[in-house]
Amino acid sequence: MSNSFFYSALPMRVSFGAGYRSKLADEVNSLGLKRVLVLATEYQKDLAQEISDSLGELSVGVYAKAQMHVPIETARDAQRYANEAGADGCVAVGGGSTTGLGKAIALEFGTPIIALPTTYAGSEMTPVWGLTADGVKKTGKDSRVLPTSVIYDPELTLSLPVGMSITSGFNAVAHAVEALYAPDGSPIISLMAEEGVRSLVGALPRVAADSDNIDHRSEALYGAWLCGATLGATTMSLHHKLCHTLGGTFNLPHAETHTVVLPYALAYNAKSAPHALAALQRATGAEDPAAYLRQLSLDLGAPASLRELGLRDEEIATAVDLATRNPYANPREVTADGVRKLLTAALNGDPVPA
Ligand code: NAD
Repeated sequence: MSNSFFYSALPMRVSFGAGYRSKLADEVNSLGLKRVLVLATEYQKDLAQEISDSLGELSVGVYAKAQMHVPIETARDAQRYANEAGADGCVAVGGGSTTGLGKAIALEFGTPIIALPTTYAGSEMTPVWGLTADGVKKTGKDSRVLPTSVIYDPELTLSLPVGMSITSGFNAVAHAVEALYAPDGSPIISLMAEEGVRSLVGALPRVAADSDNIDHRSEALYGAWLCGATLGATTMSLHHKLCHTLGGTFNLPHAETHTVVLPYALAYNAKSAPHALAALQRATGAEDPAAYLRQLSLDLGAPASLRELGLRDEEIATAVDLATRNPYANPREVTADGVRKLLTAALNGDPVPA
């Protein structure tokens, strides 16, 4: 951490507690909303209906067509639906895909979002939106898409399968890792990042062993909140650039890709980011946090290589080209050779370099 910094607190309210989805109607009322639309994926439609029913006349219904990476057609359809229903706000019940759909609606109409996250991805903490058209995902920052209120109810994560819990947890850890060496980091963000990593690496093995335990789920979601907040406050570097490229161009799955790449990206940067390394050593209790994260992911049954996720040898050159085409802040210089070695190791699931 440098001795000089800027810090802007993001304006939002957070409620955290098991069963706190019961406070949603109060939250809707306190924001002065009268006709909210409840968003979800098809898979979480029943939960969304339950939430909508609990709101009575405050809800204009459920739109359960959210999809990964917010296809533009889905966004347009949801915007039309929200407009025709006269929605004055959205309740996003789900993971990053559902929150992303709420953001697409907010971007068009400025309607506030109340998010009830059910994964650890962290989108609810950020002013970043994404839309995918013709296979290309465009992202941008806009304060209108930052959820106004977030209700973290760990009970909503009990149904998240163990495999997804682990990879989603690593997705969150990746935000904190990069926030620790972000060009726009600050002491308070570093505190949140360190505590977020500590909570998640402690909670994930317990979630894997006993996924119905609400205390373990609370600890993991608490960590995810902190990690998400660090994502919303800073600019991400090499790791997120690589995952964005692999997801966007080769359609690799989001959380799993983060899980596989993170130890290699951290190993690449660690020596050039001594303060981040020290924070991660404290958070993990390990001398080599990159090796530790790799071993933890394997112990918890996460995918071991990008090849397992569908990447092929001949695609590495394109990935290197895309990830090095435009300059961005990173603790260590991003070279084509360095990225090729990093991605090749991740492709094969090689041991993480010391
Ligand atoms: P997701 O929202 O796509 O969810 C994956 C699947 O799991 C869906 O079918 C969903 O319905 C289901 N699911 C979610 N929670 C569940 C639960 N508790 N129980 C059972 N099933 C559940 O996955 P995600 O990883 O949360 O989000 C990934 C997307 O979010 C990507 O498109 C990514 O780019 C985006 N994202 C955006 C930001 C941002 O700041 N804009 C941040 C993080 C992620």
